[in-house]
Amino acid sequence: MASRIIEGYKLYKNNDVIIEHYEPDHVIFKVKNNKNTDYYIVSMIYGYWNCDCADYQFRNQRNPGSFYCKHLQAAQFKLHDLLENKKEGNS
Ligand SMILES: [Zn+2]
Repeated sequence: MASRIIEGYKLYKNNDVIIEHYEPDHVIFKVKNNKNTDYYIVSMIYGYWNCDCADYQFRNQRNPGSFYCKHLQAAQFKLHDLLENKKEGNS
């Protein structure tokens, strides 16, 4: 579990996370797949997170809501970053 947080942080630090769409209750991210040029799509709708990678789909099905893949972790770092910047921009 901890290693996925670290992997997610690395993706975030490498700028491999792109915000495709932003509304307060609906955010869509593209997270680069480091093996090739494809992206995984991570979404957050009303606090419900989803990633389309196999890791997440498989584990979330077995135990919904208990698992965050590295893409989802990366997206959360990015979202945090975005919200912090918004705060600074408004002050
Ligand atoms: Zn994923």
